Amino acid sequence: MRSGNRKANTLLAQLAKGLLRHSAQETAVQLGDRSQYVGMSDIGKGVECMRAAIANKLGLGQRATEQSIASWFQQSDFDRIYKALTKQLVLQRGHWLESGITNALQANGTNILMQLEIMADYKGVPIKAHLDFALVWGWPQPTVRILELKSTERIPESLYSAYETQLYGQLGFLVECWNLPVFNMRDEHGTLVFEKLTFPQAVKQLFGFPFPEKPSSVDIEGWVLCLAMSEAKAFGPYRPSGMMLKACKKTAESIWNGAKEISNGKNNLNDIPYCRGFHPLCDYCNHSSSCPKFEGEELTDAAYDDELTLVAVLKDEKRDLEDRISKKEKRIKAFYAQQGRASVWLKTAHYRFKSTRQEGRKTVDMTKLELALINEIGEQRTHELLAVSAKYGQPFERLHIARI
Ligand code: SF4
Repeated sequence: MRSGNRKANTLLAQLAKGLLRHSAQETAVQLGDRSQYVGMSDIGKGVECMRAAIANKLGLGQRATEQSIASWFQQSDFDRIYKALTKQLVLQRGHWLESGITNALQANGTNILMQLEIMADYKGVPIKAHLDFALVWGWPQPTVRILELKSTERIPESLYSAYETQLYGQLGFLVECWNLPVFNMRDEHGTLVFEKLTFPQAVKQLFGFPFPEKPSSVDIEGWVLCLAMSEAKAFGPYRPSGMMLKACKKTAESIWNGAKEISNGKNNLNDIPYCRGFHPLCDYCNHSSSCPKFEGEELTDAAYDDELTLVAVLKDEKRDLEDRISKKEKRIKAFYAQQGRASVWLKTAHYRFKSTRQEGRKTVDMTKLELALINEIGEQRTHELLAVSAKYGQPFERLHIARI
């Protein structure tokens, strides 16, 4: 429950309304009408859950709008307003960071193309890639670095497959469309900087130097830059991959045609495959209330709800505690590093401590492996191989609780 201070709540409601209005304007200016094409973030989502990607494309699901904030305000429903506000803060944080990163890159004198748009087509499916940043230099070797910016609560250990797929799509379409007049760029106000140029023409127009006509003569890499409030990590390098581009195109086709079939009444959203098992995406999904994954029976006794609320409160406390422990440990590690005496134990009255560097865990990206195998040996053989190579641990009970 929000505090009963109406003036404070009014201020937060104003903020939520402004953020929603700004977000709608920004999306219209930079990305246009997203229902008219498949974007890289759609493809990234489609790789994780096709149902969610198609529902997004159809504009389904509950989303707060300026109007909903106004009506919740009239009903004094500040809890819902606050929830919408926190969601917007998470969603828009990335844009704020983006302008800070732009300033940093410009201070370095880097040649940057920002929000470069590539318009592509695959079997009649309109596809657009928007590149946060493309850094370009012509000497000593012609080079392009694509940077995809992600703002996260905490820096992940390994990259989510949705982010990787997004970047592979950008790299793939850049190379495939290199010499086609399909590159557009707008400034932050939505004014066209250039339209319908090839990539070398765009570089020549913006920075004044010629760029190779063939992407094979250029060193091209993609990186995902993950930024949390006080941490940063660069994941990469990723290089253009024909196989990953093919997978992106196929995913775009499934999203586009899937959405079309549902709007024409030829299919039902609940017949679209969705991600099975426990998936963090479901906790933030706008389509979870109608998702067949969570169909169930209603319990009317309030005691069940109370028990679940208690578990949720305890989990929040646990998260807070873990957060506090992690911050303390970070300070101790920083202190240890400042001593400049690697591997030496330091002692207090009751403890000894030292901080050492450990090797990172090596894991296999199953989505990437599966896509690679499908392209090499076909779907059936891939699934046979994966089935015989799978190893199963002992079954265990897992309690799944999610707020509706
Ligand atoms: S709730 Fe989960 S499974 Fe259902 S559509 Fe959303 S992401 Fe997919």
